[in-house]
Amino acid sequence: VGRQKLQRTVQRSQRLAKMALRDPLTRVANRDGLHRALELLQKVQGDMGFPMSVVFLDADHFKRYNDAFGHLKGDACLAAVAAALSGVVRRPGDFIARYGGEEFVIVLPDTGPNDAQALAERARDAVMRLRIEAAAPSRYVTVSAGCATATPSSQAFSIDMLVETADAALYQAKAAGRNLVISAQAMAAAVM
Ligand code: GH3
Ligand code: MG
Ligand code: MG
Repeated sequence: VGRQKLQRTVQRSQRLAKMALRDPLTRVANRDGLHRALELLQKVQGDMGFPMSVVFLDADHFKRYNDAFGHLKGDACLAAVAAALSGVVRRPGDFIARYGGEEFVIVLPDTGPNDAQALAERARDAVMRLRIEAAAPSRYVTVSAGCATATPSSQAFSIDMLVETADAALYQAKAAGRNLVISAQAMAAAVM
């Protein structure tokens, strides 16, 4: 019963995100759409006790790409990257938004850390498999990703915190060399 209510809210949040809240270049939800959808999700996920996950993705060395090929090609590249990412976000309820610039967020309601990390890996792989020529010394355009999971019913939960934790994991993926996925949960487990 809880899952059905969650599904309905998720679908409603997606319809909202799809309306005026779509980014014209990449055709995924824009940041306003993301926030509207997350607000709705926070309300229902709050009483349910299912985990939810967020994946934060960022195109690697994208300034260099623009500098080498120009902003028009940069725009086309971002649109292709967004399409590749969208292609792996298939489960009803999951959704993707352009957070800004060359950054994307994938929201995975009712999803634990292992499944989130697996999806992030598929997303990373899908972008690399586009084989878009990158500026030297990189060969192809790639993305890095950070994943975070939390159970919204826990006291300390906020979606902003979850997004921030995913962003911090993304930062680690960049520092570790890029074209990588890092899970905040896996990091925490390694520290313990
Ligand atoms: P990193 O691997 O650390 O993420 O390096 P980066 O160069 O991708 O990161 P940085 O934040 O230095 O630069 C982001 C670049 O993304 C610079 C900016 O011009 C480009 N960018 C952001 N939005 C767009 C867009 O809509 N179109 C194009 N063509 N470029 C964009
Ligand atoms: Mg960035
Ligand atoms: Mg970048």
